[in-house]
Amino acid sequence: MNKQHDVIEIRPHHGLCAEFFVGKGYSEDFAENMAEVLKMLGENNSRIAPKADTDLICAHCPNNADGVCSTYEKVLRYDKKTLELCGLTEGTAIQWDDYRKLLREKIIGAGMLGEVCGDCQWFGICGK
Ligand code: SF4
Repeated sequence: MNKQHDVIEIRPHHGLCAEFFVGKGYSEDFAENMAEVLKMLGENNSRIAPKADTDLICAHCPNNADGVCSTYEKVLRYDKKTLELCGLTEGTAIQWDDYRKLLREKIIGAGMLGEVCGDCQWFGICGK
C-alpha cells in the first residue's frame, strides 16, 4: 500500500476509531487491515479527505455489503457529527496528524465522544 502522495478518503468517524484501536474489530481480517491502514496513514502523515463513504477500513469489514455499510444510517450520523464538531467540510483535505489533533481537541478532550458514537457496540472500549 503506497498512498503517500495521494489524498486518501477516510470516513470522518474512523479517525475516532483510530484513536482507540487496540487490535480488535469485526473480524480478524478487518483488524489486520485496519492496523495496516492506520500504520500507513501514521507513517506517511498522509493527506486525507474526510468523506462519509466506504473507505480503506470498510474494505475488509463484514458489514460492507457491495460498498454500502449495513449500518449506513448510524455511521452517517457519526460522520456528520464528527465533521460538525471539528468544523470541517466533507472532502476538504487535511494532514492525518492535524486531523487527529482536531479530533482529540474538539471531541475526545471536550468530552463529546458520546455525542458522536455513544450507541456504537465498541463504545465500551473507547468511552471509558
Ligand atoms: S461498520 Fe460500516 S462504517 Fe464501520 S468499517 Fe464496517 S462498513 Fe465501514
